[in-house]
Amino acid sequence: MYIYGKEVSKTTREELARHVAEFGSRYGRVPCLAVVLVGEDPASQTYVRNKILGCEEVGIRSISRVYEDGTPQETIAQELRALAADDAVDGILVQLPLPKGYDERYLLSLIPDSKDVDGFSPNNLGLLCMDKPRTVSCTPFGVMKLLESTGVSLAGKHAVVVGRSNTVGKPMAMLLLSADCTVTVCHSKTPDLSAFTRQADILVVAAGRPKMVRADMVKPGAIVIDVGINRVDGKLCGDVDPDVESVASYLTPVPGGVGPMTISMLLYNTYRAAVARENA
Ligand code: NDP
Repeated sequence: MYIYGKEVSKTTREELARHVAEFGSRYGRVPCLAVVLVGEDPASQTYVRNKILGCEEVGIRSISRVYEDGTPQETIAQELRALAADDAVDGILVQLPLPKGYDERYLLSLIPDSKDVDGFSPNNLGLLCMDKPRTVSCTPFGVMKLLESTGVSLAGKHAVVVGRSNTVGKPMAMLLLSADCTVTVCHSKTPDLSAFTRQADILVVAAGRPKMVRADMVKPGAIVIDVGINRVDGKLCGDVDPDVESVASYLTPVPGGVGPMTISMLLYNTYRAAVARENA
């Protein structure tokens, strides 16, 4: 059975729209997200457009700052400092990946923790590891909401995460651990990947390798979450072969699975950042 992120997302966004409206009546302003895009990568442009449309849908104000590839890094740094100091801005997002030549870590370090709605800052990631989450990275947060939507209890399940990036794999593993799963993290140096994936009750794949997980690599009845977004011959596909649907109890489709949930959690994080700033 498929878990459609769009459907799960719909309820989240409707609830959020109500909270945003209440926030407006209480504080006389709406939460605001600033999105910074560098370069002309078509996928990044699409993600930014969808994030801005998501903001409109729930009543969050958005500001976008678009720079050509080749813009001096200090120009972007100055913009980030200005957005950090701007009282009207609650959340700042730099669309990743940045074009070659930019120092991602340096630019992201200019976003204060309180406005880090992507949950990428060392403090926000560290708090998650210490079981004291503040702002949780949007994609893993969205995956937890998708898992929750199945109604299946996670405690005691063996969760296998394929991928160990700071933005997806690691925070994903931490969230599953906090939900009392037994967690195994696999990566490109893991020998015999299928020996691990076949043990998974919950399998989250975030490797960026088109259709790398096939049906014979999945335990019958497992819940499989496909985070991957790949473009093959102009078409989108995930890291999981769609044939897996015949073996798994649940599978997220690509597109229409994790993607919409990621944006919903970004909107939620922006709203929460605005509330926290009003109450600071
Ligand atoms: P990264 O490239 O940063 O990390 C990929 C991870 O996968 C690495 O840890 C890498 O291992 C591991 N990996 C690569 N190849 C293999 C392999 N053959 N076997 C096992 N592990 C492997 O990617 P991200 O984490 O940023 O993203 C992963 C995917 O998720 C991408 O397709 C991306 O587009 C997608 N994505 C989707 C989002 C959504 O909203 N749906 C949001 C964010 C990302 P190692 O560390 O050893 O190199």
